Amino acid sequence: MERTLKDKNIKLENTYAKLPSKFFTAQYPEKVKESKIVALNKTLAKNLGIDVSFLESEEGANFLSGNKIIQGTTPIAQAYAGHQFGYFTILGDGRAMLLGEYLTKGGERVDIQLKGSGRTPYSRGGDGKASLGPMLREYIISEGMYALGIPTTRSLAVVTTGEDIFREDFLPGAILTRIAKSHIRVGTFEYAARLGNKEYLKELADYTLERHFDGNYEGNPYEYLLNQVVKNQAELISKWQLVGFIHGVMNTDNMSIAGETIDYGPCAFMDIYNPSTVFSSIDLNGRYAYENQPRIGGWNLARFAEAILPLLDDDKDKAIEIANGALDRYNQLYLNNWYSGMRKKLGLFNEEEVDKDLIEGLLSIMLKYKSDYTNTFYNLTIGKFTSMDIFYMDEFKRWYTLWNERLSRQQESKDEVRNLMKENNPTVIPRNHRVEEALEAAVNRNDYSVMENLIAVLKNPYDYSSVNEEYTKLPKNIEKGYKTYCGT
Ligand code: AMP
Ligand code: MG
Repeated sequence: MERTLKDKNIKLENTYAKLPSKFFTAQYPEKVKESKIVALNKTLAKNLGIDVSFLESEEGANFLSGNKIIQGTTPIAQAYAGHQFGYFTILGDGRAMLLGEYLTKGGERVDIQLKGSGRTPYSRGGDGKASLGPMLREYIISEGMYALGIPTTRSLAVVTTGEDIFREDFLPGAILTRIAKSHIRVGTFEYAARLGNKEYLKELADYTLERHFDGNYEGNPYEYLLNQVVKNQAELISKWQLVGFIHGVMNTDNMSIAGETIDYGPCAFMDIYNPSTVFSSIDLNGRYAYENQPRIGGWNLARFAEAILPLLDDDKDKAIEIANGALDRYNQLYLNNWYSGMRKKLGLFNEEEVDKDLIEGLLSIMLKYKSDYTNTFYNLTIGKFTSMDIFYMDEFKRWYTLWNERLSRQQESKDEVRNLMKENNPTVIPRNHRVEEALEAAVNRNDYSVMENLIAVLKNPYDYSSVNEEYTKLPKNIEKGYKTYCGT
């Protein structure tokens, strides 16, 4: 089979490959037996400016499986390192390949990457492949996150490969096409630092600045870079917390410098509010529990700051001082963002000193009465106080009085309050049992309708005019708990 493909619709560049060769390896995807599209994000394709009819064609399917490579482009696997559960490791794209960078209609540069496309020099013991369930899971949840207004990598397509891969059992092989602002990670900088050559580190930092933070800055550009990365992570993680998203594997190699949620492995949304919630089967100590995410964000940023320390100042003490300043700001920014988001969830337009107690008061009642996180805020928004046990409790009634007093001390009308709450309290999230149900139908019965229906519902989480109540419900066996697995 001829591997190259001429297509004028997908012009790919690779500016990343201008970095020193230590940062990547040119690598063709492994050929697959049969490329079949099972999920295609037409809206995203259109927004990017990629011809949908091309993607839907046989050539398109072969492009999305890596069987065909756009003429004149060279796919690469990126090198990186990372702290996994606290321990440093040299990693790299072990089962992903960057087909290239694509300039969107809007002039934005995005990576088009295949995940599950075969072995690379960074595969270590792995087969470089991915199975269908986890790739569909990433597709569903990343699109759900996007609709919730949370920065995220996106999913353009999932194709099956016509091959079985072996995990604990034989599973259908699949490849996800991921769209990202870039795949530069905290771990990429840790890798650069480990190379022990300041010039390499500087080249990566300059590339990152130009690609993501091209702005007017005065003073040291690398201090600016650090501050921007800090700011983006403080925003991102506060957004996760506000919707109850648990990433599950916040290793530094899974933290994007561009501030997007990346690597949907064992992630899941919390149903019942409990800060110590952990879903991931491998997270035995709860390092990445819901309540730990903001702190781990800071820990990861400290690894980033450490990596770029030589660029912050020639004087090490001065560099450390700059880094510590940025990390302190992270904590403050995170809290500001989170409180600001929580105020909006409660319909508060201005700030009062009592807000902290009001917010924490509600959360502690939710914890005590095992209330569903999303539904508590959803029902508070619509004023439906018959639907959940928590609303019958004396503690809640006392809280409710305080909340109403607080609302009456601001000028905004009831309608304005309700609208603010609607914009900040989703009605639907990708609930675990719904995601599982969709995957079961697709993977075991080749029925993609369940997933398509779910995705359609998840597209409008803030639309209160047509809420699909079925999707707001909890599973019957909620107390049994839910486990996620690192999707490979
Ligand atoms: P993840 O847990 O997906 O963030 O992956 C962590 C590291 O393991 C990355 O370097 C991946 O490229 C690599 N990896 C995960 N699955 C595989 C696989 N099936 N084959 C080779 N490498 C893999
Ligand atoms: Mg990863």
